[in-house]
Amino acid sequence: MAEPIPLARPSIGEAEEQAVIEVLRSGQLSLGPRVGSFEQAFASRVNAPYASAVSSGTAGLQLALRASGVSDGDEVVTSPLSFVASANVCVMERATPVFADVDAVTLTLDPDAAAAAVTQRTTAILPVHIFGYPASMEPLEELGLPIVEDACEALGARYADGRTVGGRGHPAVFGFYANKQITTGEGGMVCVGDQEVKQRIDSERNQGRAPDMDWLDHERLGFNFRLSDIACALGIVQLARLDEMIAARQRVAQLYYEGLGGIEGLTLPCADRGEERRGWFVFVVQLPQTVERDAAIRRLAELGVQSKPYLPAIHLMAYYREKFGHREGEFPVCEAVASQSIALPFFPELTSGQVERVCAALRETLGQT
Ligand SMILES: *Cc1c(COP(=O)(O)O)cnc(C)c1O
Repeated sequence: MAEPIPLARPSIGEAEEQAVIEVLRSGQLSLGPRVGSFEQAFASRVNAPYASAVSSGTAGLQLALRASGVSDGDEVVTSPLSFVASANVCVMERATPVFADVDAVTLTLDPDAAAAAVTQRTTAILPVHIFGYPASMEPLEELGLPIVEDACEALGARYADGRTVGGRGHPAVFGFYANKQITTGEGGMVCVGDQEVKQRIDSERNQGRAPDMDWLDHERLGFNFRLSDIACALGIVQLARLDEMIAARQRVAQLYYEGLGGIEGLTLPCADRGEERRGWFVFVVQLPQTVERDAAIRRLAELGVQSKPYLPAIHLMAYYREKFGHREGEFPVCEAVASQSIALPFFPELTSGQVERVCAALRETLGQT
């Protein structure tokens, strides 16, 4: 049998190798000039006034929540259909993630459900641009609360008003894990509109140190959530290749739409509405309700195609059930999607032949050849 087709694979070339070697030879591997260069290039790419490089998307979300004033006993309204990090950071900051159901088409936070979940204890809204599709920001902004955007899957996306995701002013956090649109191995970026917010994030990523303070003097408590110069050098090259890599992901998505059209009961990622643009990150399909999802994943693996459940509902994970008493039935849209959705292989260098193999394997798995 041919090589199994992997779910994701980073696109790394000679320019990336060269950039990393240069840092290694420079002798300055951290707290060097590449950090600021990467931040500036990234901020200008998404039209954000400021950006702070951090060690992961999760670290960025945590710092963004702190900078937005979230603390002990607060509630943060967020989506249960996300990578677990967006809820975990609320708990880490001793707040309660209050879930609200998602829109059945875009799979992002349903603004009416979010509004209904707001209480007197709510101090922030944390929408997730899931699978790269931008959440509906305007109705959320009308709630008048601080917002932190989980944009970790949405580099290159555009909001309904045509602006680039990341450039709305409130903190928007991106992630650079190896399957994201650009990667630094591990890493993240917090885009903000306010210089004081950037200063606080820069301080808290670096043990609470102020920029003008002497070595080992600290004005507040902080973490080590810094990103190394090695990672930033990689990020600078990846960012310069972003348009090319997004175009490649779009091409792969188009091939999937063509190859999977007309399969009965299969739901493909929604098309862009109006000015909204998905920043292609994963290709997630919802299997027909009659299909046992985990068996389908095993069958696809036998046919040489990697896939995985994507994403499980956060409120039904063991920790969240136990700590917050969540049960099935609370968020029916999210639960229906989460029980049937799988991510298919998706990365810039996926060939049309490989996409054809995936589509044929899925048709066979669903008995629709
Ligand atoms: C990738 C991702 C994150 C952050 O992940 P890290 O691995 O910490 O960089 C957060 N939220 C979502 C929705 C993600 O996909």
